[in-house]
Amino acid sequence: MSFVPLNDLRRSLLEQGPSLAKAFARVVDSGWLVHGPEHAAFQHEMADYIGVDHALGVASGTDALELAMQALTPGGGGAVVTAANAGAYATVAARSAGFEVRYCDVDPVSHLLDPDALGAVLDDEGAVFAVVVTHLYGRVADVEAVRRVCAPRGVRVIEDCAQAIGAEIAAGRAGSLADVGTFSFYPTKNLGALGDGGAVTTNDPTIADRVTTLRQYGWRTKYRIAERSGRNSRLDELQAAVLRYRLPFVAEGNARRREIIARYEDAASERVLVLEARGAYHSGHLAVCETEDAADLAAHLARADVGSDVHYPVPDHRQEAYEAQYASLRLPVTERLVGRILSLPCFPELTEDEIERVCRALATY
Ligand SMILES: *Cc1c(COP(=O)(O)O)cnc(C)c1O
Repeated sequence: MSFVPLNDLRRSLLEQGPSLAKAFARVVDSGWLVHGPEHAAFQHEMADYIGVDHALGVASGTDALELAMQALTPGGGGAVVTAANAGAYATVAARSAGFEVRYCDVDPVSHLLDPDALGAVLDDEGAVFAVVVTHLYGRVADVEAVRRVCAPRGVRVIEDCAQAIGAEIAAGRAGSLADVGTFSFYPTKNLGALGDGGAVTTNDPTIADRVTTLRQYGWRTKYRIAERSGRNSRLDELQAAVLRYRLPFVAEGNARRREIIARYEDAASERVLVLEARGAYHSGHLAVCETEDAADLAAHLARADVGSDVHYPVPDHRQEAYEAQYASLRLPVTERLVGRILSLPCFPELTEDEIERVCRALATY
């Protein structure tokens, strides 16, 4: 019996190979390699899909976060608030741009930033200019509740949509619900490039203008630098062509992922709580479950030839690089989830037989 992998990129690559080769040939024939027609078209198609005025291609999801933060603070400096259980991407982006990071605890059911805990964090610490709310595992966070806490305090809201492309609620799609949205096209995301890529989405022309300038050396026009903190962060033509080909398949891929998660939810023994993903508010990016001892469940799955992983094992404020600064910080819910969460195989190309085997392993735990 073969191993059921957490993810397997080869399957979609094999299936899409000829179409991807055609997209690449189109780029080679065009003679454009950077910021050409594919990139321009992708920006339009992405903006349409998310339901915003502007989508801007950048080099990665982490760059998208950093550029979004910089676009909100023309003067530089200040602090951002985020959850500490979302892989530290917002932390890394903020630190790299010279911003401080404060942490807000998460909701015990959704594992997403808890809007009820946010007011105290914002009032306690001065100089917070933005909250980064991550749609973790693919589930759309309650952005409206976050905005209600932030707006009276003049704090802006960034949505990290790296795991949630295509997820939507009545108010709109992830990436259209706050001041600015950020996306990653890392190969394992629900919309993956054949390498790195990212995007920033917004309805705010000032933010769009600043990101456009910052992502290319701070240029206002060619060779004329208008912004001090500019750098080079571009999405190239080959990646843009891949993303244009794959964007129309996001919806069906997300639906298939949700179906797989629902199967796990139904099959799991009472010792395993599979986090639900039964609606368009979820992209189905990760099938995450909660259990008393995640390492023990991982060992049980491994004996059944089923892969698993942890997203994420170490909260930001307990990372070796930062922990000294946060020694006195307690985030009770975030800390309680450590050792209890486990991600199960979840990608659209899983076979029926593989899904069945994961279900059986979950049922017999
Ligand atoms: C993957 C991911 C990122 C970072 O994206 P990169 O393209 O790898 O830089 C940011 N935030 C979240 C929630 C992610 O899952």
